[in-house]
Parts: sequence; C-alpha cells; structure tokens
Amino acid sequence: MSAMIPRTLPGDAHAQAPQQVPRTGVIRSLDALLRQARARGADDAELRSNCDDAPDFPLRVPLALLDQIENWTADDPVLRQVLPSPREHDAVPGYTTDPVGEAQHQDGALLRKYTGRALLVTTQACDVHCRYCFRRSFDYGNAQEAGNYDAAFASIAADTSIHELILSGGDPLTLSLRRLRNIVEAAEAIAHLETLRIHTRSAIVNPARVTKGLASLLANTRLQVICVVHANTVQELGPAAQASLQKLSASNAMLLNQAVLLAGVNDTAEAQIALSKRLLACGVLPYYLHQLDPVAGAAHFEVPDARARVMLESVRASLPGYLVPKLVRELPGASAKTPL
Ligand SMILES: *Cc1c(COP(=O)(O)O)cnc(C)c1O
Ligand code: SF4
Repeated sequence: MSAMIPRTLPGDAHAQAPQQVPRTGVIRSLDALLRQARARGADDAELRSNCDDAPDFPLRVPLALLDQIENWTADDPVLRQVLPSPREHDAVPGYTTDPVGEAQHQDGALLRKYTGRALLVTTQACDVHCRYCFRRSFDYGNAQEAGNYDAAFASIAADTSIHELILSGGDPLTLSLRRLRNIVEAAEAIAHLETLRIHTRSAIVNPARVTKGLASLLANTRLQVICVVHANTVQELGPAAQASLQKLSASNAMLLNQAVLLAGVNDTAEAQIALSKRLLACGVLPYYLHQLDPVAGAAHFEVPDARARVMLESVRASLPGYLVPKLVRELPGASAKTPL
C-alpha cells in the first residue's frame, strides 16, 4: 500500500499533499494485523514470534497508520509502537501503574497539577494504543461519568486562576463533533478561560478525524486554540497527516508536537532531526520530547538520561533553536514538566 502514497521529502516545505480521502478503519487483533502484514508481503511468522497475542492493554491500530509502515518487521519504528511485546510482562523495579502521580490530582474528570491550567479527561478512547502509554493503567472509571463534564466545568468556573483548558484523554478527537462543540461552548462561557488546548494523536494516526466541521468549530471560537499533536517519527507524517495538519492550521490553531523518546523508535539524532524537519514542513513546531514515564510494561522503551542528553546536544548542533524540542520528564509533585 505504501508504494501508492507519494512521499514528500523531510523538510520539503513546498510539497503539496495530494487531495485524498484519508483511510478509516482500525485493526484490533493480532490476527488481523498479521493478515495486513501478509498482504503487504511481510514475514508474519517473524512478527508473531516477536509479539504477545494476549496483551493486558489491547492491540489497536488504525489502517491509516499501518499505511505508514515501511518495513514490516518488529523493528520498524512505527510497528514497534503498536505491536504488543512479550517484554510488557517484565516486572521492572520503579515501573508502576501510576508513574506520574496523577491519582492525587484527580478531581473527577479534571486533573489540576499546574498553575493556570486544568486538564479535562474527555474520554478513555484512543484511535491507537501506544504500547508505552503512561495512561495504559489510568483509572478512567473514576474520571469519566458518561461524558458528563458539568462538575468539571463548575470547578473551572469557580476558580478564576484557570486560564487554559486542556482537552486530553484518551484522545478528544475520538468524540463526536456534537460533544466537542458542547465542550467548546461550555469553555467559551467561562470568562476567565482564554486558551483551549487540544492534545491529540488522532490527527496524526487517523487523519480522517480532522473534519471540516472540526476545523470550523476551532476557527469560530473566541478562545485561542493550540493543538498539541503527537508524532514520534517522521514516518508518521505522510501526506494524509500533513493534509489534516494543514486543515488545523487553516482554522488558526497553533500547532505544536510532543513526542516520547523511545528506544528503537526515535532515539537517534538522525531520527529526531528528520522528525523536526518534517514537522516544520507540516506547519508544526516541536514542543516536548518526553522521557518515558515509568509505567509498568514499558521498560523496554527506556532511553537512559545520559544518552538522551548526548543525543539532544547533537540535534541542537544541527538545527535552528525552534526545531529543538524541550527534553523533559514528568516528576510526581513537581510544579511543571522538569527539563533534563
Ligand atoms: C503536561 C500536563 C499539563 C500541561 O503542561 P504544559 O507544560 O503546560 O504543557 C497540564 N496538566 C497536566 C495534568 C499535565 O500532565
Ligand atoms: S494516543 Fe496518547 S493517550 Fe492514547 S494510547 Fe497513545 S499515548 Fe496513550
């Protein structure tokens, strides 16, 4: 399939994404994934022997993301992010189910950790299940009451120190346009809210989520809109993702990217440089490069701090400052993300 999609070169800001309808549909089992692999000429026996067919955190990957896989082996940087590994069962000291200490900041669907900002857990659903996700063990049952955000908005309305509402999840773009519109309207009605931030990986992995209706909702709000997307590798930013990002930009949303530093995925200076350049070509600036949160099941993605720093220095030596992400870690109890 990927041969049918014309690729743009990293950094080629003038490349036009072709007009196309992005693919929809999602793969939810190892068997279905291996069928996709076979259909693309891959050695599915090699893949099967490198993965866990009954993971605790279910496999989930949109077809649009599968289209970005170049090399169907367990080492492919895109496949590695979604393929359940037998190493997820390793018990590693320091890796826990609440690695960033969120439970203590949880007020229903709201997370209040940092001054001036409140994060709303809008849904538990994601288009993709990223194997390294720090929310893979999050207590969503406690956070979500059937999409009723009234209590959350009452708390925000009562606290005039909150100026920014962050929609997170799960992925807020998995909500219907009607639910998103209700959320945006509730936020607009609170005079002290100035900024609406949307944290989404769907815009990258399932670009069909960025519809005209969504773009027009964002274009017409009084709130300043920031979309923080989540791409970890240049491979994720093909023409369909690029087109969805252009739609968001055209709606006047400011676009930033956060990535997670992942062993065997994006832990080289070359990978980070290619990602930053392609982000720029898509109208997105790098924001954070997160050190992995020590969530149980993800230890095999860890990159030691010392190596991360050396890698980032080499990125800094090659790129303009605005293309160098901030390398940060989330520490329980800290008043902001902590720079390394
Ligand atoms: C990361 C995070 C934010 C946003 O932090 P910024 O540094 O402003 O991007 C807000 N709330 C919570 C709970 C977070 O984890
Ligand atoms: S999209 Fe984000 S919240 Fe969802 S599984 Fe991936 S990293 Fe976690």
